[in-house]
Amino acid sequence: MKYISTRGQSEPLNFEQVLMKGLAEDKGLYMPEVWPKFSMNEISGLSNFSYPDLAFELMRPFIGDSLSLEEFSEIINKSYASFSHKDTTPLNQINKNEYLLELFHGPTLAFKDCAMQLLGSLFEHFLKKQGKKINIICATSGDTGAAAVEAFKNKDLINLVVLFPKNKISRVQQKQMTTSDSNNIHCIAVEGTFDDCQAIVKNLLNNKQFKNKYNLSAVNSINWVRVMAQVVYYFYAGLKLGSPKEKVNFSVPTGNFGDIFAGFSAYKMGLPIDVLCIATNSNDALERFLKNGEYIVENVKPTISPSMDIQVASNLERLLYESSGRKPEIIRDIMLDLGVNKKFNVDQFTLNSIKELFIATSVDEKSTKNTIKNVWDNNRVLIDPHTAVGVNAGRNSISNNNNTVYIATAHPAKFPDAINNSIGIFPELPSSVANIMSREEAYSNVISKTESVQEYFERQIDL
Ligand SMILES: *Cc1c(COP(=O)(O)O)cnc(C)c1O
Repeated sequence: MKYISTRGQSEPLNFEQVLMKGLAEDKGLYMPEVWPKFSMNEISGLSNFSYPDLAFELMRPFIGDSLSLEEFSEIINKSYASFSHKDTTPLNQINKNEYLLELFHGPTLAFKDCAMQLLGSLFEHFLKKQGKKINIICATSGDTGAAAVEAFKNKDLINLVVLFPKNKISRVQQKQMTTSDSNNIHCIAVEGTFDDCQAIVKNLLNNKQFKNKYNLSAVNSINWVRVMAQVVYYFYAGLKLGSPKEKVNFSVPTGNFGDIFAGFSAYKMGLPIDVLCIATNSNDALERFLKNGEYIVENVKPTISPSMDIQVASNLERLLYESSGRKPEIIRDIMLDLGVNKKFNVDQFTLNSIKELFIATSVDEKSTKNTIKNVWDNNRVLIDPHTAVGVNAGRNSISNNNNTVYIATAHPAKFPDAINNSIGIFPELPSSVANIMSREEAYSNVISKTESVQEYFERQIDL
């Protein structure tokens, strides 16, 4: 399997290279050159597979000959052993035709663990083989950073630098990142928003000299391997609900468009999905985009679902590439426009093609809280504010009679204040989280400038 850039001006890479590289040199995102396709029969044959076994079968075509099958199988088993639930990602029915897919049973209690645990093991394997060290830089709206710290702490060949928006993430999220007490972990609070953090990461990765000097890589969902690993749970849920015979809908709380793009990838690989619902909080650029094909970046609005307080949804680039018929020149024009004018337009063909599968709905703060309360009152199930956005959007905008799966992206205990504001109860902290709340934090502060982070590297990171 080869990987190509959405902007068409970088060399194709193999799996190992695409993992290590993160972002393409032409600033594009890597995509598989062709989608591996699973037939109806092959999909039927996967029902009743355990999560790790399913992960092995679905990801195998993406690996090419970068790993032997034994190596890959070992890496998968190691990665998912850290999940606390026997089903890894259990499916929990809450009403007729309504299911929660619980992706928060990994070590940091959010879905980011599903891919990041695997990335940790993969990086370690390839770096040992190459005899190299690497610096990984990561922008986070809260959960990616925590998952990355957990996956990379105490690994000799890796330094991890995490940028988070200062005072814009939950206390639990911050503690999870800043209390690792591990020499190779560097946390930086940036005076700005997640979009600022992500822009700094992209600037540093696009600075060839800097990138080479520090052997720099990225583990945001701009890294293809994150998306690849997330394909697995879409199949897992679909198979439990009668795929491939039955069609399924998914409603996905969306920020950077990584998770829902994994859903789209599952669809391309053969999973019969009827509707993919893009659920956003008040940062509603995607809802407006689906209405008229115009994407306009506004200022980030802070909400009670902070992991989705994002205006520039990076992985949308992958969908635009696919939906415009894989034309890199179109993507280059769009991204130029976005950079200069903070907005872009797509043609009717591309927009129609997106609307064949996707719908988009934004959910305001009041409705988010009401949904937390509603699911608590009716089902005695606590959902976190991100999950609530997905449930509300799905309920209000999906109109067919198929089963709908709401992606439950985080454990409610990660957002205790939002839960308390909705139902007047503080959720019980799992012991793993309770332990960290009293620990000393370690992090630095910088202003929102690429140069400030560059200077941080010069002071703190030696390779
Ligand atoms: C990251 C995150 C999201 C958004 O996922 P994207 O892949 O960025 O769209 C939603 N909910 C939670 C809890 C998250 O951590």
